[in-house]
Amino acid sequence: MSNCNHNHSSHTHGANCGHQGIVHQGHVDYLHDGHLHHMVGNKVEEHSLPVDANNPSSCTSGHACKSHDSTHKHGPDCGHQAVPHGDHVDYLVDGHLHHPHNGHCDNHGKVQLA
Ligand SMILES: [Zn+2]
Ligand SMILES: [Zn+2]
Ligand SMILES: [Zn+2]
Ligand SMILES: [Zn+2]
Ligand SMILES: [Zn+2]
Ligand SMILES: [Zn+2]
Ligand SMILES: [Zn+2]
Repeated sequence: MSNCNHNHSSHTHGANCGHQGIVHQGHVDYLHDGHLHHMVGNKVEEHSLPVDANNPSSCTSGHACKSHDSTHKHGPDCGHQAVPHGDHVDYLVDGHLHHPHNGHCDNHGKVQLA
């Protein structure tokens, strides 16, 4: 289900390309419009962070977090970057993943920023 049609003819992700890098299983991917892009030569692969012990997809029923106030609603223009995680989308908040769920945020664990 790769429906990514970003044009990379004029952009190659790399150090200081302007996109946030995330360490993923020994390589670096780049957050690009809510997708996790990995460069292979000059081709782009879509990656998604795996659901595992470090990044569980479970409900933490009310993650006590001071990174944004409790009325904040994550969305396309909320100011946080969307991150694909398993089969859903989370938001990157201070180095960890927030998943909006029933009016609260689940904490889906830390990511390693590159
Ligand atoms: Zn880039
Ligand atoms: Zn990209
Ligand atoms: Zn990757
Ligand atoms: Zn929840
Ligand atoms: Zn948090
Ligand atoms: Zn947000
Ligand atoms: Zn998640």
